Amino acid sequence: MAQTSQPERLCVGCRQLHPKSELVRIVRSPEGAIAVDPTGKSPGRGSYLCPSAECLRQARRQKGLSWSFKGRVDASVYDALEEVLRQYEGGRG
Ligand SMILES: [Zn+2]
Repeated sequence: MAQTSQPERLCVGCRQLHPKSELVRIVRSPEGAIAVDPTGKSPGRGSYLCPSAECLRQARRQKGLSWSFKGRVDASVYDALEEVLRQYEGGRG
């Protein structure tokens, strides 16, 4: 567990820095559509969330994505994130 120089990003839930590779990316496309980006490679502005139900809850309550994207974010985006987090929990040990 050596400290590496991998990039860190701010989680929109707990608002703490985490390695980018451990976070779920949410992207706002150049067209303005906001979606979960499982590949982490979609073009557009990205925001990040820990794959944790608690961080999602905080993000919802604090409107973390609206804060990050500086605009209104539909509740359906949080619902989509919830679905993705379920898959994370199911897919990992
Ligand atoms: Zn977090």
